[in-house]
Amino acid sequence: MAGARTAWAYGRLLRDQWRSADELLALQQRRMQRLIRHSYESNSFYRERLDRCGVGPGDIRTSEDLTRLPVVTKDEMRRAIAASADIPKASRWASTSGSTGTPMRFPFLARDLSLLNLTWLRPLRAHGIPARARVLEITGPHNIRGRSRWYQRLGAWRKRSISIFAGEEEWLAALQASRPDVLWGYSGSLKLLAHFIEKNRRPAFRPRWVVGVSDLADDEGREAIRRVFATPLIDLYGAAEAGCISWICPVCGEYHVNSDHLIVEFAPAQPGNPRKILLTNLNSYAFPIIRYDIGDLGYPSLRAPACGRGLPLMRIVEGRSDAVIRLPSGRLLSPMFFFAAMKKFPWPVRWRVVQEEPGRIRVQVVPDASRAFVAAEAGAWIRQAIAEPVRIDIEVVAAIPDLANGKQCAVISRVADEA
Ligand SMILES: [Zn+2]
Repeated sequence: MAGARTAWAYGRLLRDQWRSADELLALQQRRMQRLIRHSYESNSFYRERLDRCGVGPGDIRTSEDLTRLPVVTKDEMRRAIAASADIPKASRWASTSGSTGTPMRFPFLARDLSLLNLTWLRPLRAHGIPARARVLEITGPHNIRGRSRWYQRLGAWRKRSISIFAGEEEWLAALQASRPDVLWGYSGSLKLLAHFIEKNRRPAFRPRWVVGVSDLADDEGREAIRRVFATPLIDLYGAAEAGCISWICPVCGEYHVNSDHLIVEFAPAQPGNPRKILLTNLNSYAFPIIRYDIGDLGYPSLRAPACGRGLPLMRIVEGRSDAVIRLPSGRLLSPMFFFAAMKKFPWPVRWRVVQEEPGRIRVQVVPDASRAFVAAEAGAWIRQAIAEPVRIDIEVVAAIPDLANGKQCAVISRVADEA
């Protein structure tokens, strides 16, 4: 029974965080060895890679051994998944928000997907949020489910969702109407909402907890949220293909890595520069995710946890808090607005939004060669979603390079911020 299994896994997740660092490392290595063995036996993409490096599955015993395998880029991953004959038929597909401008789809076994969903609950419990808390979520329309999940029908994690396209006025109305315990959303949207409330001196209900996901908050956004809602932003770093990767600890003040469910490596970089985050998802048996360059930057922390948890700490660079687009009317669009809008199209390989001047937005798109992409339709849809007169130029390009610092940035504004 799925419900009982999930409840058991949840209990284990809550207990395991208090194991010692050594015990957690041993658990991580056992899970990694099992995943590598599975990859070699059941996935021709990884079997070929291991063979090419002259490495057998038995040679990868520690996370240091893992560095003997090559990094998988987003492009390689996309092609490998598209071409793979090894993906179980019953897989469920998770699509990423594409917050670095590179949307992806990953297959998961139902069991793995339910574990990934659970990893988000660990930080919520760490911040004292009870399962009976009522949540108001600002999210992409693709995430809004018509029917509730089994645990929601039992009264746990009850959630009301509102679309990111609705805009600040409607988000505020939903907040006032539902008076939730938890306000949950992309950090960029929460920041826009806080600014809107302040600027217009609107009364606003103060939820007890405010949780930001996906695009990481900058200091200014974090401060605005604290001023308006009188509570600090609880920052969670994660992705659809990985679940919750790391989360701000109320005691340590840095991010705990969910190291029993994934391996976070930091690729070498110039001294002092942030490093690329490489991810190995230990619950990725439908198509293994091993040493995957997720497009974010971070640093390992030098501090030992002060809270008693064995989960290691890391620091994140505000990799996804890209520019905010300021429309001629003064309205602001967070990067997540475009991530949700780009979901409408048949899977561009990569995209980037560049605002050159107030009334003009350039959208560069690398279309997927195997699917029809109609630039005029894309332009019309984005114009409709923005709902005010702005010139939208869609440019079909062959490639979009990373920025000079190695960051994959999806939204860039060259318009001076005059807030
Ligand atoms: Zn801690």
